[in-house]
Amino acid sequence: MALRLYNTLSGQVEEFKPLVANHVGIYTCGPTVYDYAHIGNYRTFVFQDILRRHLKYRGYEVRQVMNLTDVDDKIVRNARAAGLGLREYTEQFIDAFNIDRQLLNLETPEVMVRATDQIDDMVKLIQTLQEKGYAYTSEGSVYFRVEKFADYGKLSKIDFSGNRAGARVDNDEYDKADARDFALWKAAKDGEPSWPTPLGDGRPGWHIECSVMSMKYLGETFDIHSGGSDLIFPHHENEIAQSEAATGKPFVRTWLHAEHLMVNGQKMSKSLGNFFTLRDLIARGFKPTAIRYLLASVHFRSPLNFTFEGLHQAQHSIERLRNFRYRLLNERFPAGENPEEQAQVQAQARAAREAFEAALDDNLNTAAALGAIFDLVRDGNTAMDQGRFRDGDRAAFLDTLERWDRIFAVLEDNDYAKLQEFGLLATRETGAGAVPGTAAAAEGGTGKDGSTAVLVEMLSDEEIERRIVEREAARRSRNFARSDGIRAELLEAGVVLEDTKSGTRWKRK
Ligand code: AMP
Ligand code: ZN
Repeated sequence: MALRLYNTLSGQVEEFKPLVANHVGIYTCGPTVYDYAHIGNYRTFVFQDILRRHLKYRGYEVRQVMNLTDVDDKIVRNARAAGLGLREYTEQFIDAFNIDRQLLNLETPEVMVRATDQIDDMVKLIQTLQEKGYAYTSEGSVYFRVEKFADYGKLSKIDFSGNRAGARVDNDEYDKADARDFALWKAAKDGEPSWPTPLGDGRPGWHIECSVMSMKYLGETFDIHSGGSDLIFPHHENEIAQSEAATGKPFVRTWLHAEHLMVNGQKMSKSLGNFFTLRDLIARGFKPTAIRYLLASVHFRSPLNFTFEGLHQAQHSIERLRNFRYRLLNERFPAGENPEEQAQVQAQARAAREAFEAALDDNLNTAAALGAIFDLVRDGNTAMDQGRFRDGDRAAFLDTLERWDRIFAVLEDNDYAKLQEFGLLATRETGAGAVPGTAAAAEGGTGKDGSTAVLVEMLSDEEIERRIVEREAARRSRNFARSDGIRAELLEAGVVLEDTKSGTRWKRK
């Protein structure tokens, strides 16, 4: 079945056809790095990751470009308050974003670029718009003249005909000819960072960076552009206006927008203060893979209401999937087979694979793809419990599971190992009365991105080693019930033991 996607521009689900066979160019608006991203932002980034993974699964060569907005009003304000230069201020949040991305198993886009590294190209595009009569200067700033671009509104479907005259009235303070006009270049202000350019001293407007970086790395017309639905207007509408006015060509063929992560009916956002960062949730004991699962579990065109109950369920669902995989890998099943029965059992694995693939081809219906994989778990467990599952059935089930996980990427249980690798895991003895995520977190020191480690209540390294010594002693005195008990307790606490010739090694799972 061909891949079908809902295109905001046409307002329809369409068969996806790339410009160049087997290649896909995707531009995804990246984070504004003025602070840590929240999990609402990550809902959109997880959606984009599922998109790119599914395209790859279907054999496309993907080129994804993501910008990092490292100059805007909020960044300028916050950097100044922190007494840091723009670069220095944003560096820490870019580092944090890159760590968060790895924790959430987001694949690295082929191109990631900072807006402030592209100023020259932005100036060139603005000059082209000036030459073609789409831009005018007012008090040192350059604006886009929306009236001249007849297609304005084609993405957001906003009808501007009714309120134009009224909009002009409260316009004066902005020095713009039309309320819809937007800044391409902002004149330098005292104490703010600025770049000396042929346009004058100043800094770029927000929208121009995405037109420039997308066309630079993907061509003047490219396949897919995506972001959260809050970007449809004005950001993406303005990107279309700038790009198509400059090139005279269609800018983007397919526009994809993810609906919001909500909290009690409101969009999760910094300004409402109703947000959680990834680290807030890790400190409360949730694994990044569970957060990824939750964010991917609802169709991207439906709002997703964030609750802790939902997150608990996500963690539970992942455990079910991992336990099933563990069974497939480790349990003994009878050899030999009953051909009819085995054909039936293996057909279930194939059916689940076909169902999850078809669900994702159908406008990335992740919810239905999850349904298919839980059918697989149920069918497999039932066959095992009824003694119908044979050794030879393993491969078909593992194959479906592995294929599904190429897209969902939640089966590997290595969250804490990764946190530790990034220097972000501060441990505190379980039951020692620590309150996760509070002042005690400072004891954990500093992660590779310069931020404070996240305190997760778990066994400390010393405690783990003490129990390993205790287990050794139990084994030496042939008290295997005790030594097995210690291994089980450690596993329960997220610590896996591996007995080697040179002694027992451990790792956090
Ligand atoms: P920003 O860092 O504000 O530029 O946003 C980065 C991405 O997160 C954009 O694609 C936004 O549309 C998206 N976004 C912001 N808030 C939410 C939310 N509550 N749910 C889903 N996506 C969001
Ligand atoms: Zn953008």
